[in-house]
Amino acid sequence: MANDSMDLMNIYYKLNSYFEAQNWWLSETRYEVVIGAVLTQNTSWKNVEKALENLKEEHLIDEHKILNADIEKLKGLIKPAGFYNIKSERLKSITKYIVDNYKSTDNLAKIEKDIGILRNELLSIKGIGKETADSILLYALDKPIFVIDAYTRRIFSRLGLIDKNADYDEIRLFFENNVLQDVNIYKTYHALIVELGKNYCKKKNPQCDKCPLGLSCKKLIL
Ligand code: SF4
Repeated sequence: MANDSMDLMNIYYKLNSYFEAQNWWLSETRYEVVIGAVLTQNTSWKNVEKALENLKEEHLIDEHKILNADIEKLKGLIKPAGFYNIKSERLKSITKYIVDNYKSTDNLAKIEKDIGILRNELLSIKGIGKETADSILLYALDKPIFVIDAYTRRIFSRLGLIDKNADYDEIRLFFENNVLQDVNIYKTYHALIVELGKNYCKKKNPQCDKCPLGLSCKKLIL
């Protein structure tokens, strides 16, 4: 890993001034963020939005209602997000964890619990991996943890700052050690990375000539 805090903060400032102000992951409740974090596994946010709309129409954005919901009905409502058999089970499991331990996501957010302990609790739930757990911790619980996704890995390895095969937590710590520890910066930075990855640093045919990071990028496209 490169060790240059200015690099990561400079990139943040460049992206933040280039893209429109990020109102990313706007949700009405913390629990809606939890649902979104599970539904977005292996699918686009557009599909998640359709599933969330279905759940809202049925007034199901509520921990107790999801827990008591008929599983077949739940599968049907979240179908637009794909993998609905697995995701309905995961939704039930994470909701059971929340209700059994904290009654609601709001209470979970208020608890002054060590972030590492909370993370391990989330990771012990079947189907909740590091990216999902960290998305919940950052966006639903406002905990200072950096979310690493495929866009982060792709962009920052092309920039020459990380090894694309590095371990998830190694990359996360690289960001956490070199970005100002601020929940809002972490949230915005991740959103900016997604914007860059979707619009410029695409998997195939990256748009390096138009990219706001073009001049400082090593363009290590493998
Ligand atoms: S210059 Fe190209 S490779 Fe580098 S970050 Fe931008 S799009 Fe990706």
